[in-house]
Amino acid sequence: MSRAIKIAEHLIDKYCIRSHRDLNLKEIANAEMLVIEETDLNGLLGRVMFNEDMGLIQINKSITNEGLKRFTLAHEMGHFLISKNYRWNKHGCTFDSLGNYNSNKGHEAEANQFAAELLMHKPWFSKFIKNIPICMDLIKQIADEFKVSVTAAAIRYAEIGQYPIAVILSKNSVVQWSFINSYFPCRYLPPGIVVPKESNVWDYFNGKQMAEDENMIPALSWFKEDIRCKQSTYFYEQSIVIPATDSVLTILWQSEYD
Ligand SMILES: [Zn+2]
Repeated sequence: MSRAIKIAEHLIDKYCIRSHRDLNLKEIANAEMLVIEETDLNGLLGRVMFNEDMGLIQINKSITNEGLKRFTLAHEMGHFLISKNYRWNKHGCTFDSLGNYNSNKGHEAEANQFAAELLMHKPWFSKFIKNIPICMDLIKQIADEFKVSVTAAAIRYAEIGQYPIAVILSKNSVVQWSFINSYFPCRYLPPGIVVPKESNVWDYFNGKQMAEDENMIPALSWFKEDIRCKQSTYFYEQSIVIPATDSVLTILWQSEYD
């Protein structure tokens, strides 16, 4: 288990938090000697400055999505709690820091792991999703229940959900990043690939109304560069527009006919 996850679990124990509904992030941050303010932050979602004892977290006041705001706060708390023992430190975090799981390494990935574990602690998450079939509605329900963004909910599901899924973020018809469960049958989907014409996502980026219901699509449409992907494999695909970034979040899961 990673250090970031252990620190999140320790915090949950320390404050005797029994469920995500009891989780008051601001109270915990204050108790951990963190001051929070909302302010103008050019191009950053959040920022944290700290020494070994205390710190200041700034959250971009123009964030309107409550889920994103909470994830940003938890992410900044993560930076402090993970590395406060080392030295004076500061981090400025962008959309990419909080969302781009392909290129995130080191501090940003650790802060994301911490935030995901604190907000969607594995036992709470597993209990909530148990035996519910996967589809975008479930991802939206998770986002509502745990007060996180749809993107954070989808990534968490891909990480520890009951059924293997792939999460893809596209912008301007191009895949920006993907996060794929290790049991998902196709895995190679590099950023920069153009979204497939058979996909609902294609419609969105080509000026058409995007269907919001699930669509069955050949696996090779998305994974044309994955040599292990079979022609006979089909996936269900369902997408949702993320208006703040004019991007589309897609989840893929396995067709029962495969
Ligand atoms: Zn960060």
